[in-house]
Amino acid sequence: MSIKDLYQPKRPVVSFEIFPPKKDNAIKSIYEALGQMAALSPDFISVTYGAGGSGNANRTVELASFIQRRYGIKSLAHLTCAGTPHDKIHHLLTHMHSEGIHNILALRGDPPEDASSSSSSSSSSSSSNTYRYAEDLIRDIRSREKFCIGAACYPEGHIDCDTMRLDMDYLRRKQDAGADFLITQLFFDNNIFFRFQEEIRRRGITLPLSAGVMPILGQAQIERMIFMCGVSLPAGIVKLLHKYKHNPEDLRKAGIEHAATQLADLLRQGVDGVHIYTMNKPDIAASCMKHIGRIN
Ligand code: FAD
Repeated sequence: MSIKDLYQPKRPVVSFEIFPPKKDNAIKSIYEALGQMAALSPDFISVTYGAGGSGNANRTVELASFIQRRYGIKSLAHLTCAGTPHDKIHHLLTHMHSEGIHNILALRGDPPEDASSSSSSSSSSSSSNTYRYAEDLIRDIRSREKFCIGAACYPEGHIDCDTMRLDMDYLRRKQDAGADFLITQLFFDNNIFFRFQEEIRRRGITLPLSAGVMPILGQAQIERMIFMCGVSLPAGIVKLLHKYKHNPEDLRKAGIEHAATQLADLLRQGVDGVHIYTMNKPDIAASCMKHIGRIN
């Protein structure tokens, strides 16, 4: 049941990401969407986890477990550690194990707003009972339970990190701590991904690498991505946003088309895997799978 075993030469891994809805009344729709996505036969489906361990932690486990039991598709449960005490994480790991979850995307997450505004106090508390970086969580999981561990990486550098060089040094530490594979943050220009891939390989980071692709669905979503994640916009995307600024339906279509073209190019150029940020929309997943020839 290990995701790392899916990565094999000449057989790219195609995966989807979903998120547990925050509102109770939306939970039915995610189960319906999962049925449609499972029919597209992705290699695995990942389920996000609320920042700071709040909110939808149980939902992540519930959905990740359901995907495996109901559809026989491997699932990847995201887990963030920022601000979470060790014993809470250990309890959760035991629970995941008992639910048959063996694959975890180990993340720092984003510290709560109040913690990041006083970085010195948050860093001293994080050194005692909570984790400071994803690297610490990866090392802890590796020492305790038998999980396959994924980690996040950033083709344009993490938004908090001053230089790409430092960010890649830290990525190397995630590999050394015991990560088994990597998934990137979204990017809109494949050249950025290929440069990043080349550079991390040069630095001895050999883990399988899945390229994360997110279709553009609207102007607000793009603004969030730029300011929250530091993702850059190539001229082609800026032109799309301009061309369809009064036509959200056509922008959505063009955004999905752009993502599908990105995916096809990545696969043609031999990437280890592609990870589709589906935003819980089966039609997006289906369009992408069709375009890359995974379904008719
Ligand atoms: P880290 O690897 O700990 O890095 C965080 C920052 O610290 C970076 O700037 C890094 O350069 C720096 N750093 C790392 N190690 C060190 C070190 N040893 N010394 C000094 N600096 C260091 N968020 C959620 O809340 N829920 C999710 O489900 C979720 N899923 C994600 C899935 C993917 C594929 C990706 C790419 C991101 C996801 N995120 C999610 C967002 C993620 O939690 C944030 O980007 C977070 O800010 C960083 O997490 P990380 O695990 O990469 O952290």
